Amino acid sequence: MTGPLLIQYGTQAQKDFFLPRILSGEHVWCQGYSEPNAGSDLASLRTSARRDGDDFIVNGQKIWTTLAHCANWILLLVRTSTDEAKRQKGITVLLVDMTTAGCTVRPIPNLRNEADFCEVFFDNVRVPAANVVGEIDQGWALAKAVLGHERIFLGAPSRPEYAIKRLERLAQDRGAFDDPGFVARYAKLRLDLYDLSAAFERFARVLRAGGVLGADVSVLKIFCSELYQRITEEMLTVAGEEARLWDDLHTGAGDVDAMNLYLDSRAPTIFGGSNEIQKGVLAKGVLGLPSSF
Ligand SMILES: Cc1cc2nc3c(=O)[nH]c(=O)nc-3n(C[C@H](O)[C@H](O)[C@H](O)COP(=O)(O)OP(=O)(O)OC[C@H]3O[C@@H](n4cnc5c(N)ncnc54)[C@H](O)[C@@H]3O)c2cc1C
Repeated sequence: MTGPLLIQYGTQAQKDFFLPRILSGEHVWCQGYSEPNAGSDLASLRTSARRDGDDFIVNGQKIWTTLAHCANWILLLVRTSTDEAKRQKGITVLLVDMTTAGCTVRPIPNLRNEADFCEVFFDNVRVPAANVVGEIDQGWALAKAVLGHERIFLGAPSRPEYAIKRLERLAQDRGAFDDPGFVARYAKLRLDLYDLSAAFERFARVLRAGGVLGADVSVLKIFCSELYQRITEEMLTVAGEEARLWDDLHTGAGDVDAMNLYLDSRAPTIFGGSNEIQKGVLAKGVLGLPSSF
């Protein structure tokens, strides 16, 4: 997500420094958008950056930052001005080295007691002004551009594809294909996955041709995340009482991590902008309906 942003809005110096390090894996990025009181309502973010000579001094907190404990750089949204009447103004995009003094990462254990996401604290963290992407106070448009890239990425059929292969493996092994009820439900999931892949391809073609995606890309994220959930729910139906929190299910063709996938499928309807927010985007941006946000 940082790569496309820098290609579109970065200075030449930023592109030269960061892009090769993203490709080599030397820099691992996390996304510092959400805060305790700024999730869906992102424009409420309060992490501040105050100018001090050639630097900014950052103070505040981010939350739900995926894999922040594995990252060494964070793409950070900060508030650089509170003067403007519109809250979207006064937000700036900063590239922050997480090894800088004052930056602390605290992992949040999930239901399986694993660390997937974290809280990230900033206590007088000094960041060079050269690490601002785009214009100071004008970061909202950039933040939205990143979310647009994220939506096509989150709408890619790879997650449901992986899950349906595991469902097929489990169903073969447990004899579920002998049940006409299962076969009917499976056929619907399979056909929906074909439809999702076709829709994804249509959006990908626009990008490949150098085009820009519109608000309608939100449909991809809703379709993909809900299909992923329906597939993993069917997997638990096939697994029945075997589906336990910790164990993989054994089949002749290899193990199936049914409960892991089911739990994993809860997240995509929330992250990257919840599905309710995506429906709002479609209502306003595609259907032209009145909207309060
Ligand atoms: C697994 C996971 C990973 C994440 N990773 C990251 C990350 O790497 N970086 C990052 O910055 N954030 C990350 N997030 C945070 C994510 O972006 C937020 O959780 C999300 O934007 C929702 O914000 P919230 O949790 O504050 O919920 P809220 O905004 O408080 O929403 C609560 C509920 O109200 C609904 N709601 C809110 N506003 C509206 C509205 N206007 N219309 C209709 N319904 C509404 C929401 O849909 C939701 O159901 C992650 C979240 C999860 C679950």
